[in-house]
Amino acid sequence: MRGVKAVLFDLFDTLVEFRNDRLHVVSLDGREIRSSSPVLYELFKGRWPEVPFETFHRAFVGSWEDVRAEREIDDREVTADVRFQRLFARLGIADAPLEALRGLVATHARQLLRCMECPEANRDLLKRVGARYPLGLVSNFDHAATAWTALEQFELRPCFRSIVISAEVGVRKPRREIFQRALNELRVEPADALFVGDDFRADVVGARRMGLTAVWLDRGRSQPVDGVVPDHTIKELGELEALL
Ligand SMILES: [Mg+2]
Repeated sequence: MRGVKAVLFDLFDTLVEFRNDRLHVVSLDGREIRSSSPVLYELFKGRWPEVPFETFHRAFVGSWEDVRAEREIDDREVTADVRFQRLFARLGIADAPLEALRGLVATHARQLLRCMECPEANRDLLKRVGARYPLGLVSNFDHAATAWTALEQFELRPCFRSIVISAEVGVRKPRREIFQRALNELRVEPADALFVGDDFRADVVGARRMGLTAVWLDRGRSQPVDGVVPDHTIKELGELEALL
């Protein structure tokens, strides 16, 4: 593509898929949902056996809702450590030792990693695109170590010249700062960069606002935002190469 000097990617649900069906099923209020809470509870109840699973699970889901609400205020990242502090707060546990919190965070991270999958085709595409352009990665993720482990595990890390994870910079897409960090590391101007991601608000709104060319990977899970038009919309990541 004329004028493009660097290509930047979102990570989750763009390059790496998230397989929810690898999590345990939790039945609650007549509904079945997939959650990492059963595995977390096994660890948790060793120290707090008096708290029933249902109470734990509701607090676990509630802590996620707390974090989402906090993020919505100004797109500041709320890390996994803080999320689990909210969990303890909801359970009325004021004196949770740091090691208990760390144990839950690490166990949760392992659960998430088990669910991640990088299709071979995505890695191959990155290698081909990477042979033509310097690549950047800008990810909204609340636990940096997990994102780095996923990048190592799927052998994606060497593909990128710049990797920026929200948990490390403190703000999330669509905030300008997180894109700017990657552009600085790639030494390109926004107008010379193309960004591809699946989340309309984070990826398309963020990239457009910064003046990058925005490619929306529309996987049917994210709603467009009024007044914002992506430069290109694709249904499969493989369609990206035809645009470049
Ligand atoms: Mg995504």
